[in-house]
Amino acid sequence: MIPAAFEYYTPRSVNEAVALLDQHGDDAKILAGGHSLLPALRLRLSSVGHLIDIGRIADLAYIKEDQGTLCIGARTSHYQVESSSVVRQKCPLLAECAGNIGDVQVRNRGTLGGSLAHADPAADYPAAILALDAEIQAVSSGGKRTIKAEDFFVDMLTTALRAGEIITEVRITPSAAKTGSAYLKVPQPASGFAVVGVAAVVTLDASGKCAAVRVGVTGAAAKAFRAKDTEAALTGKVPDEKTLTQAAAQSTNGVDANGDIFASAEYRTHLVAVYTKRALAKAVERAKG
Ligand SMILES: Cc1cc2nc3c(=O)[nH]c(=O)nc-3n(C[C@H](O)[C@H](O)[C@H](O)COP(=O)(O)OP(=O)(O)OC[C@H]3O[C@@H](n4cnc5c(N)ncnc54)[C@H](O)[C@@H]3O)c2cc1C
Repeated sequence: MIPAAFEYYTPRSVNEAVALLDQHGDDAKILAGGHSLLPALRLRLSSVGHLIDIGRIADLAYIKEDQGTLCIGARTSHYQVESSSVVRQKCPLLAECAGNIGDVQVRNRGTLGGSLAHADPAADYPAAILALDAEIQAVSSGGKRTIKAEDFFVDMLTTALRAGEIITEVRITPSAAKTGSAYLKVPQPASGFAVVGVAAVVTLDASGKCAAVRVGVTGAAAKAFRAKDTEAALTGKVPDEKTLTQAAAQSTNGVDANGDIFASAEYRTHLVAVYTKRALAKAVERAKG
């Protein structure tokens, strides 16, 4: 199908893009990689009068460090995240997660900001962004705002972004010593989207106990979530086989799991527990070095 007609803009700065958003309000949308928005427009699941393409805003695509904090511009592609030596060294979980997205074409066009703003319940990044306790920076004509990952994902395809806001940057604080991480997923065979995906970050103390644990889960419910009961069950404990199994079994406590043609709610719940245990075990192994 052909999308409904729209006006197309190519701003060269964030300020210009924000001004266009203000000018056209609900009838405008940001276009980044277009991997989610363009199919929706073509299938007429969505229509918009004004499309603001941020693809030519050079200073939205970067990976840099700011006093130890890893800063990634919203327009940075999944491939750039996956292949960046800085990301691999400072935040291997994000590079591992990016490398698990779709196929090489998807990773070349899809962007970090686009994936987060779209908040697809089966997208990979949200699990890692939650487990990393990252911050998302958004800019509007009213100024800059920082949103914690935990507050960002509100519901299916719904985020805490306000009208007129553009994601500009994702910020990740450096991990403590003796921290390991892992992202594991069950991919949907055609698209690669996560049937379930689990990101785990574990910090060990000098005695080998878990000093800090964060687990982000995607694919299982309407939105990505932190497995808080699992984190609590493991914190302060030696992560042996039995403790990991018991902690992972609590990963979907209080969660209303999705069921669809790829996996029933019951099977997804089972998969999350299995993949949570595996991701935690791998993170622990990596933390030990
Ligand atoms: C065949 C296929 C397979 C895929 N497989 C996977 C997969 O395995 N895992 C996975 O996680 N993803 C997958 N994706 C999704 C893809 O990786 C992109 O992340 C996703 O399409 C959104 O990024 P985008 O840059 O293309 O955003 P767009 O499609 O351009 O935009 C998506 C939405 O975000 C908004 N938006 C974009 N950028 C910003 C911004 N900076 N600020 C505010 N709003 C913004 C847009 O207005 C729109 O509403 C797949 C896509 C395709 C087509």
